[in-house]
Amino acid sequence: MIKDNLERIRDRVEAACRRSGRSSGEVRIVAVAKNRTVQEIQAVIFAGITDIAENRMQEALLHNRELSERGDGLRATGQGRGTMTRHFIGHLQTNKAKDAVELFDLIHSVDSVRLAQELAVHAKRLGKVQDILLQVNTSGEKQKFGVTAGEAEGMLAEIAQLRHVRTQGLMTIAPIVDDPGQAKMFFRVLRQLRDDVCGRRADCGLSILSMGMSDDFEAAVEEGATMIRIGRAIFEEA
Ligand SMILES: *Cc1c(COP(=O)(O)O)cnc(C)c1O
Repeated sequence: MIKDNLERIRDRVEAACRRSGRSSGEVRIVAVAKNRTVQEIQAVIFAGITDIAENRMQEALLHNRELSERGDGLRATGQGRGTMTRHFIGHLQTNKAKDAVELFDLIHSVDSVRLAQELAVHAKRLGKVQDILLQVNTSGEKQKFGVTAGEAEGMLAEIAQLRHVRTQGLMTIAPIVDDPGQAKMFFRVLRQLRDDVCGRRADCGLSILSMGMSDDFEAAVEEGATMIRIGRAIFEEA
């Protein structure tokens, strides 16, 4: 089932790329492992996925331990498979920064300078440069994490001062809408923000746009997503 689902998703990504004049090689499919068993995670790796995302630290630690016991640990630093990229996409509290730096290659959900500073402290200790994305709340919904589009540029400049953290791009979560086409305006806000910042600073380094989930990834791809975060469409019956 996972294999068939992935094939369908890849076809849909390719079609969305064709519609928007992009190459499907520009879009990475990140499999979201929240609420999944390690058997499911292994199945998705077996089906060719190289990017795995976790949403909660506690579950991430559990998955990592269980995968390690199967000789398939996915630790970002040191042991584990060099070919896997581990992502963290959930809300991150500063007291979990150490675990996050130890476990993840790319943290999508940085939403304060304070958190970036904390990540930098632990990254320095590990002799690592932590790759991050700045999470932007493009819809302004109160219950959503992320900085406002207006705050983003100033924060990016502050975070750029930290030598052990490197901002690779921006992330957003679109609101739930009836028609996925309606999500486009939020994805457009993120892309526009990236284009504005990079227009003023050639070395902005913001190559990643992490946007789009099971219900709206085609709209996100059409608006320039380079990473889509997919859970249900991969793991559940179509
Ligand atoms: C759960 C989750 C996803 C994946 O959602 P699906 O609708 O299952 O594809 C993507 N991004 C974040 C931040 C999530 O928490």
